[in-house]
Amino acid sequence: MEIEALKDLIAGQESDMFAFLEKLVNTESGIDQISGVNQVGTIISQWCESIGMTTRTIPHDQAGDLLIAEYKTSENKDQKPIVLSGHMDTVFNADVTKNHHFRLLADKPGFAKGAGLMDMKGGLVIAMYVVKNLIEMGYQKHPLSLIFIPDEETLHRYSDTRQEMIGELQDAALMLNFEPTPTFDKIVVGRQGGMMLNVTVEGVQGHSGMEVEIGRSAVVELAQKVIALESLTDIPRKKLINCGIIKGGVSANTIPGSAKGNFSLRFPNQTIKEEIIADIERVIPEPYIADTTTKFEIESGVDAMVYTDKVDQLADHYLATADKMGYGPLTKVESQGASDASLASLVDIPVVDGLGIVGTGAHTLEEEADLTSLRPRVALSIQAILDL
Ligand SMILES: [Zn+2]
Repeated sequence: MEIEALKDLIAGQESDMFAFLEKLVNTESGIDQISGVNQVGTIISQWCESIGMTTRTIPHDQAGDLLIAEYKTSENKDQKPIVLSGHMDTVFNADVTKNHHFRLLADKPGFAKGAGLMDMKGGLVIAMYVVKNLIEMGYQKHPLSLIFIPDEETLHRYSDTRQEMIGELQDAALMLNFEPTPTFDKIVVGRQGGMMLNVTVEGVQGHSGMEVEIGRSAVVELAQKVIALESLTDIPRKKLINCGIIKGGVSANTIPGSAKGNFSLRFPNQTIKEEIIADIERVIPEPYIADTTTKFEIESGVDAMVYTDKVDQLADHYLATADKMGYGPLTKVESQGASDASLASLVDIPVVDGLGIVGTGAHTLEEEADLTSLRPRVALSIQAILDL
């Protein structure tokens, strides 16, 4: 199909996309709204079946269900699927849509607000319309899968989503993630991963004048370890260790018997993540002051979306497609925010992110999106898939 014809075709679907987006935004799927997430999943899976996809879910007790919609034909059933992904949950509390439902902005034509509109129900609609149009065009080269995640915002803490996604993505050709983007001209090629480290030091409390021989300062012990760990920060390699909180002691004239530190740890890939864990395991248990003991706990956090050569190639393909369509130039960016694009890195398949709606104010009630971005975003990913 000619590029102009493709653009016209998608333009004709704009009002349907807006209506669908309104329905999704007004179906709340916030934190703790498991049934809301599943309601969003049901609306989407019925729509997917109506366009000829097969759907299935993987249920969770303490999170919404993982939704997988697939389109496969006898011609391509042996090919690897292209996965288009997004998350159905939002960060908001119940009843948020009473005041923050989907609404067009009278003073800003083409723009809308609504809780969850930009992060990321807009992206879900874009991914769905990409697949719908490819099916209608008779696209055969690869099977197409929509995988919609129920619990990105809680980092899959209450489900096995991460493990299930590794299973789903293992045999995929590539993954396209439709998180929002602040401006049209960016494509996300990398995201940092992160963990938390909690350290607890036990020393021996004592009077700071009379018990100096028996007192063992937990604060001094912790301070040594903060310095030892932070000195391993390596900014050029994006290995970042920060102790953000320390607490310890009871009064200025008491040798502190206990102290606690909370660290944030950031990394661009699995190798540096493991390096940081090895640093912690080496530095933390080793006492500087005799008779102190230090314990630690690492909270798993998020994986990194690793900027690999495969990712770069896929991003270049998008850049070339955007240029050819008159949407360019696009710039490749590494983002500080986390997303499920990192799941593709766990199985080392190509992935790009930020293909969703253009907007601002993610995770705030002021979320705002440029509805006119839906059309070019849908057309761009259709053309990119056609040209692969
Ligand atoms: Zn998001």
